[in-house]
Amino acid sequence: PRPLARDAALRARAARVIPGGMWGHMNAARLPQGYPQFFASAAGTRLRDVDGNEYVDFMCAFGPMILGYGDPEVEAAAAAQRGRMDIANGPGEALVELAELMVETVPAADWAMFAKNGTDATTACLMIARAETGRRKILVARGAYHGSAPWCTPWPAGTTAEDRAHLLPFEFNDPASLTEAAAAAEGDLAGILVSAFRHDARTDQELTRPDFAAAARALADRHGAALILDDVRAGFRLHLGGSWEPLGVRPDLAAWSKALGNGHAIAAVTGNDAMRAAAQRIFVTGSFWCGAAAMAAATATLRKLHRIGAVAHMEAMGQMLREGIAAQAAALGLGLRQTGPAQLPMMLFDDDPDLAKGSLFCVTALDHGVYMHPWHDMFLSAAHTEEDIRIALAATRKGLEAVARAQP
Ligand code: PMP
Repeated sequence: PRPLARDAALRARAARVIPGGMWGHMNAARLPQGYPQFFASAAGTRLRDVDGNEYVDFMCAFGPMILGYGDPEVEAAAAAQRGRMDIANGPGEALVELAELMVETVPAADWAMFAKNGTDATTACLMIARAETGRRKILVARGAYHGSAPWCTPWPAGTTAEDRAHLLPFEFNDPASLTEAAAAAEGDLAGILVSAFRHDARTDQELTRPDFAAAARALADRHGAALILDDVRAGFRLHLGGSWEPLGVRPDLAAWSKALGNGHAIAAVTGNDAMRAAAQRIFVTGSFWCGAAAMAAATATLRKLHRIGAVAHMEAMGQMLREGIAAQAAALGLGLRQTGPAQLPMMLFDDDPDLAKGSLFCVTALDHGVYMHPWHDMFLSAAHTEEDIRIALAATRKGLEAVARAQP
Protein backbone atom coordinates (compact mmCIF):
# COMPACT_ATOMS: atom_id res chain seq x y z
CA PRO A 1 0.00 0.00 0.00
CA ARG A 2 0.90 3.68 -0.20
CA PRO A 3 3.20 5.35 2.29
CA LEU A 4 1.30 7.74 4.57
CA ALA A 5 3.95 8.29 7.26
CA ARG A 6 4.44 12.04 6.70
CA ASP A 7 0.66 12.47 6.70
CA ALA A 8 0.44 10.64 10.03
CA ALA A 9 3.22 12.79 11.48
CA LEU A 10 1.50 15.99 10.36
CA ARG A 11 -1.80 14.77 11.79
CA ALA A 12 -0.09 14.18 15.14
CA ARG A 13 1.38 17.69 15.11
CA ALA A 14 -1.95 19.16 14.01
CA ALA A 15 -3.82 17.40 16.79
CA ARG A 16 -1.80 19.42 19.34
CA VAL A 17 -2.40 22.87 17.89
CA ILE A 18 -5.66 22.54 15.91
CA PRO A 19 -8.89 21.36 17.58
CA GLY A 20 -9.48 17.82 16.38
CA GLY A 21 -6.55 18.20 14.03
CA MET A 22 -8.84 19.65 11.35
CA TRP A 23 -12.34 21.08 11.08
CA GLY A 24 -15.19 21.08 8.60
CA HIS A 25 -15.77 19.26 5.34
CA MET A 26 -12.10 18.59 4.64
CA ASN A 27 -11.48 16.76 7.90
CA ALA A 28 -10.07 13.43 6.69
CA ALA A 29 -10.66 11.89 10.13
CA ARG A 30 -14.27 11.38 9.03
CA LEU A 31 -13.13 9.50 5.92
CA PRO A 32 -12.05 5.84 5.88
CA GLN A 33 -8.50 5.05 6.86
CA GLY A 34 -6.21 5.42 3.85
CA TYR A 35 -7.22 8.95 2.87
CA PRO A 36 -4.45 11.52 3.13
CA GLN A 37 -5.26 14.67 5.11
CA PHE A 38 -2.38 16.76 3.77
CA PHE A 39 -1.37 17.57 0.21
CA ALA A 40 1.87 18.94 -1.18
CA SER A 41 1.05 20.00 -4.73
CA ALA A 42 -1.69 20.14 -7.33
CA ALA A 43 -1.50 20.60 -11.10
CA GLY A 44 -4.14 20.02 -13.75
CA THR A 45 -6.19 17.02 -12.61
CA ARG A 46 -3.39 15.64 -10.41
CA LEU A 47 -2.93 15.91 -6.67
CA ARG A 48 0.18 14.86 -4.79
CA ASP A 49 -0.04 14.17 -1.06
CA VAL A 50 2.72 14.96 1.42
CA ASP A 51 4.04 11.40 1.10
CA GLY A 52 4.49 11.78 -2.66
CA ASN A 53 1.50 9.66 -3.68
CA GLU A 54 -0.17 10.97 -6.83
CA TYR A 55 -3.87 10.87 -7.60
CA VAL A 56 -6.12 11.74 -10.50
CA ASP A 57 -8.57 13.93 -8.61
CA PHE A 58 -12.35 13.63 -8.85
CA MET A 59 -13.17 16.03 -5.99
CA CYS A 60 -11.67 19.20 -7.50
CA ALA A 61 -11.17 20.74 -4.04
CA PHE A 62 -14.91 20.09 -3.49
CA GLY A 63 -15.75 22.22 -6.52
CA PRO A 64 -13.44 25.23 -6.90
CA MET A 65 -11.17 23.56 -9.44
CA ILE A 66 -13.02 23.58 -12.77
CA LEU A 67 -10.28 24.29 -15.36
CA GLY A 68 -7.50 22.28 -13.71
CA TYR A 69 -5.33 23.20 -10.74
CA GLY A 70 -3.08 26.13 -11.63
CA ASP A 71 -4.69 26.81 -15.00
CA PRO A 72 -2.05 28.95 -16.79
CA GLU A 73 -4.55 31.46 -18.21
CA VAL A 74 -6.23 32.05 -14.85
CA GLU A 75 -2.94 32.21 -12.97
CA ALA A 76 -1.47 34.67 -15.47
CA ALA A 77 -4.51 36.96 -15.12
CA ALA A 78 -4.37 36.77 -11.32
CA ALA A 79 -0.60 37.33 -11.20
CA ALA A 80 -0.75 40.32 -13.57
CA GLN A 81 -3.47 41.91 -11.45
CA ARG A 82 -1.64 41.13 -8.21
CA GLY A 83 1.51 42.69 -9.66
CA ARG A 84 -0.40 45.95 -10.06
CA MET A 85 -2.67 45.73 -7.01
CA ASP A 86 -4.70 43.20 -5.09
CA ILE A 87 -6.08 44.59 -1.81
CA ALA A 88 -6.27 48.37 -1.51
CA ASN A 89 -8.60 51.10 -0.21
CA GLY A 90 -11.15 50.08 -2.79
CA PRO A 91 -11.67 47.73 -5.70
CA GLY A 92 -10.02 47.98 -9.08
CA GLU A 93 -11.46 48.05 -12.55
CA ALA A 94 -11.49 44.24 -12.23
CA LEU A 95 -14.68 44.56 -10.12
CA VAL A 96 -16.69 46.29 -12.82
CA GLU A 97 -15.32 44.03 -15.52
CA LEU A 98 -16.33 40.90 -13.58
CA ALA A 99 -19.77 42.28 -12.69
CA GLU A 100 -20.39 43.06 -16.37
CA LEU A 101 -19.32 39.55 -17.36
CA MET A 102 -21.56 37.94 -14.70
CA VAL A 103 -24.56 39.99 -15.88
CA GLU A 104 -23.77 38.98 -19.48
CA THR A 105 -23.36 35.30 -18.55
CA VAL A 106 -26.32 34.89 -16.20
CA PRO A 107 -29.66 35.72 -17.86
CA ALA A 108 -31.44 36.15 -14.50
CA ALA A 109 -28.87 38.71 -13.31
CA ASP A 110 -29.16 42.49 -13.67
CA TRP A 111 -26.42 43.10 -11.13
CA ALA A 112 -23.68 41.32 -9.15
CA MET A 113 -21.88 41.75 -5.83
CA PHE A 114 -18.82 39.82 -4.66
CA ALA A 115 -17.59 38.20 -1.47
CA LYS A 116 -15.24 35.37 -0.55
CA ASN A 117 -17.12 32.21 0.45
CA GLY A 118 -20.35 30.51 -0.49
CA THR A 119 -21.74 31.14 2.99
CA ASP A 120 -21.18 34.88 2.52
CA ALA A 121 -23.28 34.70 -0.63
CA THR A 122 -26.16 32.56 0.69
CA THR A 123 -26.35 34.68 3.85
CA ALA A 124 -26.42 37.91 1.84
CA CYS A 125 -29.22 36.48 -0.35
CA LEU A 126 -31.37 35.92 2.76
CA MET A 127 -30.64 39.45 3.96
CA ILE A 128 -31.60 40.95 0.61
CA ALA A 129 -34.84 38.92 0.46
CA ARG A 130 -35.75 40.09 3.98
CA ALA A 131 -34.78 43.69 3.27
CA GLU A 132 -36.84 43.71 0.08
CA THR A 133 -39.98 42.13 1.57
CA GLY A 134 -39.77 43.37 5.15
CA ARG A 135 -40.65 39.80 6.14
CA ARG A 136 -38.82 37.09 8.06
CA LYS A 137 -39.56 33.51 6.94
CA ILE A 138 -37.31 31.59 4.55
CA LEU A 139 -38.29 28.16 3.20
CA VAL A 140 -35.34 25.73 3.18
CA ALA A 141 -35.25 22.11 1.96
CA ARG A 142 -34.75 19.50 4.66
CA GLY A 143 -31.17 18.17 4.60
CA ALA A 144 -29.84 20.75 2.14
CA TYR A 145 -26.45 22.32 2.78
CA HIS A 146 -26.17 26.10 2.39
CA GLY A 147 -23.03 26.87 4.37
CA SER A 148 -21.62 27.06 7.88
CA ALA A 149 -23.11 30.24 9.40
CA PRO A 150 -25.25 29.73 12.53
CA TRP A 151 -28.47 29.81 10.45
CA CYS A 152 -27.36 26.94 8.21
CA THR A 153 -24.48 24.94 9.70
CA PRO A 154 -25.43 21.25 9.81
CA TRP A 155 -24.23 20.63 13.38
CA PRO A 156 -26.21 22.42 16.08
CA ALA A 157 -23.29 22.90 18.51
CA GLY A 158 -22.68 26.57 19.14
CA THR A 159 -25.92 27.75 17.57
CA THR A 160 -29.21 28.75 19.15
CA ALA A 161 -32.75 27.87 18.20
CA GLU A 162 -33.22 31.58 17.55
CA ASP A 163 -30.60 31.43 14.77
CA ARG A 164 -33.04 29.27 12.77
CA ALA A 165 -36.28 30.59 14.20
CA HIS A 166 -37.49 31.89 10.85
CA LEU A 167 -36.62 28.91 8.66
CA LEU A 168 -39.43 26.59 7.53
CA PRO A 169 -38.65 23.16 6.04
CA PHE A 170 -39.93 21.57 2.85
CA GLU A 171 -39.05 18.43 0.87
CA PHE A 172 -36.98 19.14 -2.22
CA ASN A 173 -38.78 18.21 -5.47
CA ASP A 174 -42.16 18.10 -3.68
CA PRO A 175 -44.36 21.02 -4.78
CA ALA A 176 -47.08 20.14 -2.23
CA SER A 177 -44.67 20.40 0.71
CA LEU A 178 -43.48 23.74 -0.65
CA THR A 179 -47.05 25.04 -0.72
CA GLU A 180 -47.61 23.81 2.85
CA ALA A 181 -44.43 25.48 4.08
CA ALA A 182 -45.43 28.74 2.40
CA ALA A 183 -48.81 28.58 4.13
CA ALA A 184 -47.04 27.98 7.46
CA ALA A 185 -45.22 31.29 6.92
CA GLU A 186 -48.58 33.02 7.51
CA GLY A 187 -47.99 36.11 5.41
CA ASP A 188 -44.41 36.51 6.67
CA LEU A 189 -42.66 34.86 3.70
CA ALA A 190 -39.45 36.57 2.59
CA GLY A 191 -37.89 33.91 0.39
CA ILE A 192 -37.65 30.36 -0.91
CA LEU A 193 -34.12 28.97 -0.88
CA VAL A 194 -33.42 26.11 -3.30
CA SER A 195 -30.35 24.11 -4.30
CA ALA A 196 -29.44 23.58 -7.96
CA PHE A 197 -30.55 19.96 -7.48
CA ARG A 198 -30.76 17.65 -4.49
CA HIS A 199 -27.08 17.13 -3.70
CA ASP A 200 -27.23 16.12 -0.05
CA ALA A 201 -24.39 13.96 1.29
CA ARG A 202 -24.91 10.22 1.84
CA THR A 203 -28.07 10.32 -0.28
CA ASP A 204 -28.94 9.50 -3.88
CA GLN A 205 -28.89 12.78 -5.78
CA GLU A 206 -32.06 13.99 -7.49
CA LEU A 207 -32.19 16.22 -10.52
CA THR A 208 -34.64 19.09 -10.07
CA ARG A 209 -38.10 18.20 -11.37
CA PRO A 210 -39.30 20.86 -13.82
CA ASP A 211 -42.72 20.99 -12.12
CA PHE A 212 -41.02 21.63 -8.78
CA ALA A 213 -38.95 24.49 -10.19
CA ALA A 214 -42.04 25.99 -11.81
CA ALA A 215 -44.01 25.62 -8.57
CA ALA A 216 -41.26 27.36 -6.60
CA ARG A 217 -41.26 30.28 -9.05
CA ALA A 218 -45.07 30.56 -9.04
CA LEU A 219 -45.26 30.35 -5.25
CA ALA A 220 -42.62 33.05 -4.79
CA ASP A 221 -44.53 35.28 -7.21
CA ARG A 222 -47.87 34.63 -5.53
CA HIS A 223 -46.45 35.55 -2.11
CA GLY A 224 -44.27 38.42 -3.33
CA ALA A 225 -41.25 36.53 -1.95
CA ALA A 226 -37.79 36.07 -3.45
CA LEU A 227 -36.79 32.83 -5.16
CA ILE A 228 -33.16 32.24 -4.15
CA LEU A 229 -30.97 29.71 -5.98
CA ASP A 230 -27.95 28.36 -4.14
CA ASP A 231 -25.65 27.64 -7.08
CA VAL A 232 -22.52 27.55 -4.93
CA ARG A 233 -21.80 23.87 -5.55
CA ALA A 234 -23.22 23.23 -9.01
CA GLY A 235 -22.65 26.68 -10.53
CA PHE A 236 -20.92 26.71 -13.96
CA ARG A 237 -20.95 22.90 -14.20
CA LEU A 238 -24.52 22.37 -15.47
CA HIS A 239 -25.00 25.60 -17.43
CA LEU A 240 -22.88 28.75 -17.42
CA GLY A 241 -25.98 30.92 -17.07
CA GLY A 242 -27.21 29.19 -13.92
CA SER A 243 -28.28 25.66 -13.05
CA TRP A 244 -32.01 26.35 -13.47
CA GLU A 245 -31.63 27.92 -16.96
CA PRO A 246 -32.26 24.57 -18.68
CA LEU A 247 -35.49 24.35 -16.65
CA GLY A 248 -36.60 27.77 -17.86
CA VAL A 249 -36.94 29.08 -14.30
CA ARG A 250 -35.06 32.20 -13.23
CA PRO A 251 -34.40 33.01 -9.58
CA ASP A 252 -34.60 36.55 -8.16
CA LEU A 253 -31.30 36.03 -6.33
CA ALA A 254 -28.49 33.53 -6.76
CA ALA A 255 -25.45 32.61 -4.67
CA TRP A 256 -22.20 31.54 -6.36
CA SER A 257 -18.69 30.65 -5.29
CA LYS A 258 -16.53 27.53 -5.62
CA ALA A 259 -15.78 27.25 -9.37
CA LEU A 260 -16.09 30.97 -10.11
CA GLY A 261 -12.37 31.72 -9.62
CA ASN A 262 -10.95 28.28 -10.44
CA GLY A 263 -9.57 28.09 -6.90
CA HIS A 264 -9.16 31.79 -6.12
CA ALA A 265 -11.24 32.95 -3.15
CA ILE A 266 -14.35 34.58 -4.55
CA ALA A 267 -18.13 34.37 -4.19
CA ALA A 268 -20.92 36.27 -5.90
CA VAL A 269 -24.51 37.28 -5.35
CA THR A 270 -26.48 38.03 -8.48
CA GLY A 271 -29.99 39.43 -8.60
CA ASN A 272 -32.64 41.00 -10.76
CA ASP A 273 -33.79 44.62 -10.80
CA ALA A 274 -36.58 43.92 -8.30
CA MET A 275 -33.87 43.10 -5.71
CA ARG A 276 -31.50 45.95 -6.58
CA ALA A 277 -32.74 48.53 -4.07
CA ALA A 278 -32.70 46.03 -1.20
CA ALA A 279 -29.19 44.90 -2.16
CA GLN A 280 -28.18 48.53 -1.88
CA ARG A 281 -29.72 48.88 1.60
CA ILE A 282 -28.01 45.97 3.36
CA PHE A 283 -24.52 46.36 4.83
CA VAL A 284 -22.26 43.46 3.93
CA THR A 285 -18.51 43.56 3.50
CA GLY A 286 -15.20 41.94 4.40
CA SER A 287 -11.58 42.97 4.51
CA PHE A 288 -10.73 40.80 1.52
CA TRP A 289 -13.92 40.98 -0.54
CA CYS A 290 -12.48 43.51 -2.99
CA GLY A 291 -9.36 41.50 -3.75
CA ALA A 292 -8.69 42.36 -7.38
CA ALA A 293 -6.54 39.32 -8.16
CA ALA A 294 -9.39 36.90 -7.41
CA MET A 295 -11.70 39.03 -9.54
CA ALA A 296 -9.26 38.93 -12.44
CA ALA A 297 -9.00 35.16 -11.92
CA ALA A 298 -12.80 34.86 -12.04
CA THR A 299 -13.04 36.91 -15.23
CA ALA A 300 -10.38 34.72 -16.86
CA THR A 301 -12.16 31.57 -15.62
CA LEU A 302 -15.54 32.61 -17.02
CA ARG A 303 -14.04 33.63 -20.37
CA LYS A 304 -12.26 30.30 -20.71
CA LEU A 305 -15.32 28.29 -19.64
CA HIS A 306 -17.28 30.02 -22.42
CA ARG A 307 -14.55 29.64 -25.02
CA ILE A 308 -13.80 25.94 -24.59
CA GLY A 309 -17.38 24.70 -24.19
CA ALA A 310 -16.54 23.48 -20.70
CA VAL A 311 -19.99 22.24 -19.67
CA ALA A 312 -20.34 19.83 -22.61
CA HIS A 313 -16.83 18.48 -22.00
CA MET A 314 -17.42 17.91 -18.27
CA GLU A 315 -20.67 16.16 -19.05
CA ALA A 316 -19.01 13.93 -21.67
CA MET A 317 -16.17 12.96 -19.32
CA GLY A 318 -18.60 12.32 -16.48
CA GLN A 319 -20.75 10.19 -18.74
CA MET A 320 -17.73 8.16 -19.88
CA LEU A 321 -16.79 7.52 -16.25
CA ARG A 322 -20.35 6.66 -15.29
CA GLU A 323 -20.89 4.22 -18.17
CA GLY A 324 -17.54 2.56 -17.52
CA ILE A 325 -18.30 2.04 -13.84
CA ALA A 326 -21.81 0.79 -14.61
CA ALA A 327 -20.44 -1.83 -17.01
CA GLN A 328 -17.78 -2.95 -14.51
CA ALA A 329 -20.33 -3.26 -11.70
CA ALA A 330 -22.76 -5.17 -13.91
CA ALA A 331 -20.02 -7.63 -14.95
CA LEU A 332 -19.29 -8.31 -11.28
CA GLY A 333 -22.97 -8.50 -10.33
CA LEU A 334 -22.61 -5.55 -7.92
CA GLY A 335 -25.54 -3.24 -7.25
CA LEU A 336 -24.63 0.42 -7.12
CA ARG A 337 -26.41 3.68 -7.80
CA GLN A 338 -24.83 6.50 -9.77
CA THR A 339 -27.04 9.54 -9.35
CA GLY A 340 -27.01 13.25 -10.05
CA PRO A 341 -25.70 14.92 -13.18
CA ALA A 342 -22.68 13.23 -14.80
CA GLN A 343 -20.58 16.34 -14.02
CA LEU A 344 -21.34 16.01 -10.28
CA PRO A 345 -21.63 12.27 -9.80
CA MET A 346 -22.61 10.46 -6.61
CA MET A 347 -21.88 6.76 -6.16
CA LEU A 348 -23.54 4.68 -3.46
CA PHE A 349 -23.60 0.88 -3.19
CA ASP A 350 -26.76 -1.13 -2.60
CA ASP A 351 -27.06 -2.76 0.85
CA ASP A 352 -24.32 -0.58 2.30
CA PRO A 353 -25.82 1.04 5.41
CA ASP A 354 -22.45 1.70 7.09
CA LEU A 355 -20.75 2.64 3.78
CA ALA A 356 -18.29 -0.27 4.21
CA LYS A 357 -18.49 -1.12 0.50
CA GLY A 358 -18.11 2.49 -0.58
CA SER A 359 -15.14 2.89 1.74
CA LEU A 360 -13.38 -0.24 0.50
CA PHE A 361 -14.04 0.84 -3.09
CA CYS A 362 -12.63 4.33 -2.54
CA VAL A 363 -9.57 3.27 -0.55
CA THR A 364 -8.73 0.67 -3.21
CA ALA A 365 -9.09 3.38 -5.87
CA LEU A 366 -6.74 5.59 -3.83
CA ASP A 367 -4.20 2.76 -3.78
CA HIS A 368 -4.44 2.78 -7.58
CA GLY A 369 -3.97 6.53 -7.89
CA VAL A 370 -7.54 7.85 -8.09
CA TYR A 371 -9.16 10.15 -5.50
CA MET A 372 -12.94 9.66 -5.21
CA HIS A 373 -15.39 10.14 -2.32
CA PRO A 374 -17.51 7.49 -0.58
CA TRP A 375 -20.46 9.70 0.37
CA HIS A 376 -20.21 13.17 -1.14
CA ASP A 377 -20.93 14.12 -4.72
CA MET A 378 -17.80 14.28 -6.83
CA PHE A 379 -16.74 16.87 -9.40
CA LEU A 380 -15.58 16.64 -13.00
CA SER A 381 -13.56 19.48 -14.48
CA ALA A 382 -12.86 20.79 -17.95
CA ALA A 383 -9.28 19.58 -17.49
CA HIS A 384 -10.23 15.90 -17.21
CA THR A 385 -9.23 14.00 -20.34
CA GLU A 386 -10.24 10.65 -21.76
CA GLU A 387 -6.86 9.41 -20.53
CA ASP A 388 -7.79 10.51 -16.98
CA ILE A 389 -11.05 8.59 -17.28
CA ARG A 390 -9.21 5.48 -18.52
CA ILE A 391 -6.87 5.71 -15.51
CA ALA A 392 -9.91 6.15 -13.27
CA LEU A 393 -11.66 3.14 -14.76
CA ALA A 394 -8.60 0.95 -14.19
CA ALA A 395 -8.76 1.98 -10.52
CA THR A 396 -12.53 1.60 -10.19
CA ARG A 397 -12.23 -1.93 -11.61
CA LYS A 398 -9.81 -2.78 -8.80
CA GLY A 399 -12.14 -1.12 -6.30
CA LEU A 400 -15.18 -3.00 -7.49
CA GLU A 401 -13.27 -6.29 -7.55
CA ALA A 402 -12.25 -5.68 -3.93
CA VAL A 403 -15.90 -5.09 -2.99
CA ALA A 404 -16.98 -8.24 -4.87
CA ARG A 405 -14.29 -10.31 -3.11
CA ALA A 406 -15.43 -9.01 0.28
CA GLN A 407 -19.05 -10.09 -0.34
CA PRO A 408 -20.17 -12.93 1.94
N1 PMP B 1 -24.02 26.15 -0.57
C1 PMP B 1 -23.69 24.99 -1.13
C2 PMP B 1 -24.69 24.28 -1.99
C3 PMP B 1 -22.43 24.42 -0.91
O1 PMP B 1 -22.11 23.24 -1.46
C4 PMP B 1 -21.52 25.13 -0.10
C5 PMP B 1 -20.13 24.59 0.16
N2 PMP B 1 -20.00 23.21 0.19
C6 PMP B 1 -21.92 26.34 0.46
C7 PMP B 1 -23.16 26.82 0.19
C8 PMP B 1 -21.01 27.12 1.36
O2 PMP B 1 -19.89 27.56 0.70
P1 PMP B 1 -18.57 27.93 1.52
O3 PMP B 1 -18.08 26.66 2.12
O4 PMP B 1 -17.65 28.47 0.49
O5 PMP B 1 -18.96 28.93 2.55
